[in-house]
Amino acid sequence: MESHKPMFQVENFDDEFVQKLVYDALVWCSLHGLVVGDKTYQKSGTVPGVGMTHAPISLLPTQFPESYWKQACEVAPIFNELVDRVSLDAKFIQDSLSRTKKADIFTSRLLDIHSKMLESNKKEDIRLGLHRSDYMLDEETKSLLQIEMNTISCSFPGFGRLVTELHQSLLRSHGDHLGLDSERVPKNTSNSQFADAMAKAWLEYNNPRAVVMIVVQPDERNMYDQHWLSSVLREKYPLLYLSLAEVETEGSVQEDGTLIVDGQEVSVVYYRSGYTPRDYPSESEWNARLLIEQSSAVKCPSIAYHLAGTKKIQQELAKPGVLERFMDNKDDVAKLRKCFAGLWSLDDPEIIKKAIEKPELFVMKPQREGGGNNIYGDDVRENLLRLQKEGEEENAAYILMQRIFPKVSNVFLVREGVYHRDQAISELGIYGAYLRNKERVIINEQSGYLMRTKVSSSDEGGVAAGFAVLDSIYLN
Ligand code: ADP
Ligand code: MG
Ligand code: MG
Repeated sequence: MESHKPMFQVENFDDEFVQKLVYDALVWCSLHGLVVGDKTYQKSGTVPGVGMTHAPISLLPTQFPESYWKQACEVAPIFNELVDRVSLDAKFIQDSLSRTKKADIFTSRLLDIHSKMLESNKKEDIRLGLHRSDYMLDEETKSLLQIEMNTISCSFPGFGRLVTELHQSLLRSHGDHLGLDSERVPKNTSNSQFADAMAKAWLEYNNPRAVVMIVVQPDERNMYDQHWLSSVLREKYPLLYLSLAEVETEGSVQEDGTLIVDGQEVSVVYYRSGYTPRDYPSESEWNARLLIEQSSAVKCPSIAYHLAGTKKIQQELAKPGVLERFMDNKDDVAKLRKCFAGLWSLDDPEIIKKAIEKPELFVMKPQREGGGNNIYGDDVRENLLRLQKEGEEENAAYILMQRIFPKVSNVFLVREGVYHRDQAISELGIYGAYLRNKERVIINEQSGYLMRTKVSSSDEGGVAAGFAVLDSIYLN
């Protein structure tokens, strides 16, 4: 007996029943704040409560094998530890990114800040990491492979919990008809765990009057995900919301390193901006980033944590023998390595030749975050050929990655009040929180999850970027 196998077959549902589910889901989203700014309203990215629409969602949780779910949860604290170790090895970071620096101005500017911190011998005693490690389940090799490790501005810790609760609620109401059990959607406390880690960082900083500063984009339609996090903190901890440009005008660092913004001492800086070149339209934003980095506030992330999450570092870590430099425990090394897909730099002629012959088996990635930046299919070939002509330097802006092919399933995607039945693939993100003060590790845990599902014909992911929808998982 395969008792856990759900009976539900999306193909069998009649339209009337699905419409009813969609209606209930949309009511739930509206009542519970699973909403984003509606781009047709000009003020929806700046004024809360104006121009809201439900977040793009998958109507039902997507099936995911329990063994892989456990594997992904189990490696979360190990990845947290790895990021911390890498962040302390300034030479490894600088050396690994030295060629990238010449080819990519954004990485180069980040590295400059990192270098300045090294010159002034700046140490981060209290280190707070709020990460999300993303995976796809490769259908061919039946393995859980990491897409990337995000160390800055990981989106949807607020909505991860909400979309899980939405699905659990729908299954409680309609589970019998669907043949689904709400208990098989794992609990998700992403929001409170991230908030708790921020609160504990605030405690470590140890000044009851100091504030938590959330660095935001000036126009942010995904503001409610962030407000969910701050709603947990707000009653106990004073919060400030500022853009990088505002930090430049309102902020200063005192002789002893204290960061003062708007006349208040800042203990923890949480970035929901600063991860893409678009967040730095002028020198003001770079000045603000440097100012914060020079201060004694706890930065989530520090420049070193940020750089440790770059795709180039991911590729360097996948080289033989490199993980062993950072992790002593052989079992841990094996668990991490098991999740690594093929990763290569573009100075390997063998792999370039292969990728030009079979570009569909590769993804070409620049050092960018936020979705919509990668190169796929025939464009991989074209770009590789172009880079071969242009010579050595330019190719260091990219890495090559083995393309992962997850299982395609039938799902209902709901956007702007309308549902579509489509063939889709999913990416599982596991949140991880890490907090330490010198030698004392205060938090190192898996902190909830987020599934993202997108039509299988789309190469890119990213919910905010408009490719994917929010989802949760149904264990089987
Ligand atoms: P970003 O930091 O911009 O999110 P990612 O590495 O996560 O960059 O890539 C963006 C999206 O591209 C992913 O969400 C995923 O949908 C797709 N993608 C990335 N790497 C691969 C891969 N190796 N195989 C298949 N799809 C991939
Ligand atoms: Mg990313
Ligand atoms: Mg990503």
